[in-house]
Order: sequence, then structure tokens, then C-alpha cells
Amino acid sequence: MDRYYSKKTVITNAGLALTVKHRQFMLSDDRLTAAQEVVTKAGYWVIHALSLLNETPLAKDVKKALQRTFLTFSPNAEALKQIKDTLILVQYGICNPAGLNLKIAKYNPDRQLPPNVTANQVNGYVVPYDQNRTVWGDIHLKATVLTGDRKTALVAFIHEASHKFASTADFGDKGYTRDSDGMFKEAGLTKAEALNNAESYARFVYHLCT
Ligand SMILES: [Zn+2]
Repeated sequence: MDRYYSKKTVITNAGLALTVKHRQFMLSDDRLTAAQEVVTKAGYWVIHALSLLNETPLAKDVKKALQRTFLTFSPNAEALKQIKDTLILVQYGICNPAGLNLKIAKYNPDRQLPPNVTANQVNGYVVPYDQNRTVWGDIHLKATVLTGDRKTALVAFIHEASHKFASTADFGDKGYTRDSDGMFKEAGLTKAEALNNAESYARFVYHLCT
């Protein structure tokens, strides 16, 4: 029989504290387990992606992933540094020895979403507390996303983690990708935008780890 919690701290497989909180309904053991697995795996994925980016020359698969997500096979030194620095911040955030909070949401209240984004497009969200987008609230993931297809959950979690820990941005359908084939929903994202696009980081890591 499932036990239910409103908030519970568990230790991930990487030995880090993860506090999972409910929104609008109670937690169950399967949601806790899913949260633990997603957060642990996301940390390993980001570390793996960083290690591949540190190889010289970059492997063919890495270049292909860079082309798909950052729109260039061979980023210049400055762009490569920005990608690595962003992923390092994401890694520190996910693997923070002080722990991490994750909130599970039943649905996304429209008032908490950026303009032009409808709730059904969003698998998760994180809300900035200040106008300069320097302080962010907890990462929220939709319950159905967390316990559904694991790859979608990982992309959603890393996307939100990149907002929270590296202040990345969204660029509407130009920046979002389709869950089906990982392609951008709409053409037109610039290379400069891609370097700050939350989804580019999540998809880049995903392409390298699957
Ligand atoms: Zn976003």
C-alpha cells in the first residue's frame, strides 16, 4: 500500500539530499522514487556531457549534438566556454551537497507561467523571485511527466535546472523542442539565443546520453 507525504527528504543514489514537496496533492512512494531517479540520473548526464565537451578534438557525436541544439558543429572558444560554464552551474546546482528541492505539481497554474506559454506546453517550471532573474524558486515538475516517460522527465528537469542555476531563458516555439523527435518547434532561433536557451542545454545533454 502506498504511503503518502506532503514533504519528504530522501538520499539519491549519488548520496545527496533531495527534498520532494507536493503541490495540490500528496506524494506517494512511486513519485518519490521517480524524483530520486530523475535527479540522480540528471546529475550523471550533465557530468558526462561536460566530460565529452572537455575532449580535444570534439567527438563526431558531440559535434552533431552541438549542431542540433546550439546550431553549430564547431563553436568558437568563447561559445564553447559559455556552454561549459552553463553546464558546470547546472551540475553544481543538481549535485549540491547542501541538497536540492523538487516540487511536484498536478498542473501548472497559468498565473505562474510566462506570457504566451500555455500550461499544456509545459512539463515543468521555475519562477524567478526578482526582476533581474538572479534568485529562483524551487524546480516544479508535472506529476505525469515525472512518473511518465523517463527521457521526457530528464529533459524537463535539466531544462528547469538550467533556468534556476544558470539563469537561462526561453524563446517560445523557436527554443522549445518537440518531445517526439527533439527538433525545434519553429525555425528562427539565433546562435546567440541558443547559447542562453534552456531547452538547448537540456536537449544537448539528452542527445549525448541516449
Ligand atoms: Zn523554460
